Amino acid sequence: MDLCVHATLQNGEMMLTSNGSSTKTHLRRETLGLYALGDLAVRETLATEQHLSGCARCKKNLRQVEAVVAALRQPVLESPAWAASRG
Ligand SMILES: [Zn+2]
Repeated sequence: MDLCVHATLQNGEMMLTSNGSSTKTHLRRETLGLYALGDLAVRETLATEQHLSGCARCKKNLRQVEAVVAALRQPVLESPAWAASRG
């Protein structure tokens, strides 16, 4: 009687806690702004992307910053009201 002993695969259960470390610093708006503008150094860009990949909070902030950047990049087609009534 042969007993075939199979090696049991041990599932290493890694519990990833998203809010575990409070020492981890979040990305600054300034950094996100430069990132949105594509004005960040390559090294910082990589670090930023790495942080963003695991941080919903900074992703949300990035979206807001990106919206502002997109608005700023749009050409101003209409003169503001104060300019027209000036005189
Ligand atoms: Zn963050």
